[in-house]
Amino acid sequence: MHGPIEQELDELYRELILDHYRRPRNTDLLPDAQHKAEGFNPFCGDQVNLQVMVDAGGTIEAVGHQGKGCSISQASASMLTEILKGKSLEEARATSDAFRRLLRGEEVEESELNALGDVGALQGVRRFPIRIKCALLPWTTMEEALEQGKQG
Ligand code: ZN
Repeated sequence: MHGPIEQELDELYRELILDHYRRPRNTDLLPDAQHKAEGFNPFCGDQVNLQVMVDAGGTIEAVGHQGKGCSISQASASMLTEILKGKSLEEARATSDAFRRLLRGEEVEESELNALGDVGALQGVRRFPIRIKCALLPWTTMEEALEQGKQG
């Protein structure tokens, strides 16, 4: 799956993205997770199936992902499962918001960029507007999962 986008990305970022694509993290299904959603990007054919498991204190305990699609969407999903572990739901939404701004070329605080960790490697995608949907798919799916699993 080496398309033009991978050639254009900075080498360091490219390696990290392809590493997550080839060896995705946290691919076990979490049937007991409180928050679940499936996302689809018709422009690229990307599929994302996310489960978010939250402990009694409201901290994200684990995120599971199964999906298929391009390297950008699947690497983004893998990175998401790692970075959200240990965060509160509020922090998860804030991380998603910071990533969206990063891809749109809007202002992102240095502390926010640090909090994004590996996810920051996807910032080169902003030069390919059509692929921004690929990178954001897991994040919009995660936001939907949190909405749908809301109590009360
Ligand atoms: Zn894609």
